[in-house]
Amino acid sequence: MYLKELTLRGFKSFASSTTLRFEPGITAVVGPNGSGKSNIVDALTWVMGEQGARNLRGTSMEDVIFAGTATRPALGRAQVTLTIDNSDHALDIPYAEVTISRTVFRNGGSEYAINGSQCRLLDIQELLSDTGLGQQMHVIVGQGRLDAILRADPAGNRAFIEEAAGILKHRKRKERALRKLAASEDNLSRVDDLIAELR
Ligand code: ATP
Repeated sequence: MYLKELTLRGFKSFASSTTLRFEPGITAVVGPNGSGKSNIVDALTWVMGEQGARNLRGTSMEDVIFAGTATRPALGRAQVTLTIDNSDHALDIPYAEVTISRTVFRNGGSEYAINGSQCRLLDIQELLSDTGLGQQMHVIVGQGRLDAILRADPAGNRAFIEEAAGILKHRKRKERALRKLAASEDNLSRVDDLIAELR
């Protein structure tokens, strides 16, 4: 598995559609300060399911949409599409190439797709979560991140290890199931109250 192609449309400083093609091996992105190198990493993090605006160096999710310049008006949406070579089937999906895309609209709506079919954010997060490309993103080491990893407390260290071991997905599923169980128990006790009243 390797990242093959990344297309940014209206994402941060990339107002025009811009496609980067990666080959297996090492790719270096070079450019002057402020030219958008970190924005490319933000786009990767975002399309793979990042939910925290601060991790994308903004204050709200709409901050990823091209905000306009003196010569170019702001845009109404940002879209990032990532193509992953899956010929080794590291991703649990029966395709040799997987394309995931994420769109956010200035009015607050969002869309997600896997190989062109609309899906939930959760589907993207689950697809990537056992591969090391998951939400915790220990494969993306941004500026200052190495320091955070080195200074992590035991709980933080455990989260990194759980993500790498593919346990986090199951922990999240368990948390979701427990939340549903608690809601069902609430409903049951409400039904019990109603039955008691009717008696
Ligand atoms: P450095 O080498 O200093 O770390 P860099 O090449 O990583 O710089 P980035 O941080 O990726 O640069 O890009 C910063 C630029 O992106 C700034 O000029 C900023 O104005 C621009 N930018 C960020 N968000 C948006 C947005 N929503 N709309 C337009 N431009 C944006």
